[in-house]
Amino acid sequence: MIDIKGVSKSFMMHGKSLPILRVSNWHVEQGERLALMGPSGSGKSTLLHLISGVMTPDEGEIWVDGLPLHTYSESKRDRYRADHVGYIFQDFHLISSLTAKQNVELIVPQSWSKKMMKEQVDYWFERVGLKDRQHHLPSELSRGQQQRAAIIRAIITKPHLILADEPTGSLDWETAGDIMTLLLDICEAEKLTLLTVTHDLHLAEMYPQRVHIQDINVLPRREAI
Ligand code: ADP
Ligand code: MG
Repeated sequence: MIDIKGVSKSFMMHGKSLPILRVSNWHVEQGERLALMGPSGSGKSTLLHLISGVMTPDEGEIWVDGLPLHTYSESKRDRYRADHVGYIFQDFHLISSLTAKQNVELIVPQSWSKKMMKEQVDYWFERVGLKDRQHHLPSELSRGQQQRAAIIRAIITKPHLILADEPTGSLDWETAGDIMTLLLDICEAEKLTLLTVTHDLHLAEMYPQRVHIQDINVLPRREAI
């Protein structure tokens, strides 16, 4: 599902190139549910940005679903992301002026019929426990409910790959556990590959697979700058 070969990524800081990631070989199988752990600043989000095609590597190859992302133009990467990746953020990224349902409908392809849209929207709002909240604005939902709506948005088109960057980072521990359980259950049932960044060990232990960024990223820990 994900194949990374000889990838490196640096950022320009104060006119100097600062190496952030070097991954010589990393593979994630189709259908894996994997927690990616590691300290702040260790390149976890950068790795997710490379896999989602938001960023490009300085060198190396990134293959997802058999597609060579490293050869793609920006517009082709945008298309790839829309078709293949569901992204879940720590702070939900819902549009505040739209209801939960409108936030979801916004990303659904035009090719869906009205009937299919309604069936799918009804199914998923029920599935995540938001049946009576479709017409609420994000500000009228709890943080856990907002993340449930964001999970529907990421999953409703069945992208093969779900990337979640600290999806429970702004939730209390009980809600965090509920959200992780929901995400894991949905991805297992729908056979979606799930890669979740978390630095909460208890939450990571819910995952069938766990990996530490420092086992992937072979750059030595930088000295503080
Ligand atoms: P993590 O998600 O593990 O906390 P990140 O991948 O966000 O780490 O960042 C890794 C390092 O790269 C950090 O030192 C961060 O400051 C730096 N960094 C991330 N994005 C940029 C950017 N766009 N420009 C410059 N430096 C960046
Ligand atoms: Mg991060």
